[in-house]
Amino acid sequence: RSWAESKLSSELLKAVERAGYKTPSPIQMAAIPLGLQQRDVIGIAETGSGKTAAFVLPMLNYITRLPPISEENEAEGPYAVVMAPTRELAQQIENETVKFAHYMGIKVVSIVGGQSIEEQGFKIRQGCHVVIATPGRLLDCLERRYVVLNQCNYVVLDEADRMVDMGFEPQVVGVLDAMPSSNMKPENEDEELDAKRIYRTTYMFSATMPPAVERLARKYLRNPVVVNI
Ligand code: AMP
Repeated sequence: RSWAESKLSSELLKAVERAGYKTPSPIQMAAIPLGLQQRDVIGIAETGSGKTAAFVLPMLNYITRLPPISEENEAEGPYAVVMAPTRELAQQIENETVKFAHYMGIKVVSIVGGQSIEEQGFKIRQGCHVVIATPGRLLDCLERRYVVLNQCNYVVLDEADRMVDMGFEPQVVGVLDAMPSSNMKPENEDEELDAKRIYRTTYMFSATMPPAVERLARKYLRNPVVVNI
């Protein structure tokens, strides 16, 4: 098991090395190559398994394939959105993302309750690559037009079962429906993907699979690979 086998870009491999991650964890070994192939993933994993880097690294790899954010063109991005049930978890995901992203000029903004929404809107307007959010506050930002998701084609639902338990299914759905559905992969597994196109990639992590989570998966994921480690 080595990082070289993960097929991450050389830039990211360097960032991983600088972060001090010597070898990938099992969930990372399984999930990262799938994300790089634009496959949707359902990860059944607990905190402590390294699940955060398992979705953060392919997400950052996706972003490095996109043109850089220009100074003139404000209101660029976000290109990727991570949703998590609590501010604390969003904070942990942000820390884990910034650990790699800050070597790469990737801008990360967190959108959670309990902080000034105007300030969050201001940060978004300056352009950013990744938004890490709790669903309620993100939907609020969408409704105020502080954030636009028409360039967002990479989505992560972390601890989906907890989001549903906390009653956030409508907000999660509201956010997902604000992303371009034109980039959803075909439902038919056998249909060939166009290598030059960008499709929406969706990662869903959950410790359990209650019906509401299955409902989300059926509607928003396309032929997902289930990784259960
Ligand atoms: P998580 O399961 O994502 O909450 O990660 C648990 C902890 O393990 C976090 O503090 C990570 O920074 C750390 N971690 C994740 N992947 C690795 C790795 N491959 N090598 C060393 N530490 C890691």
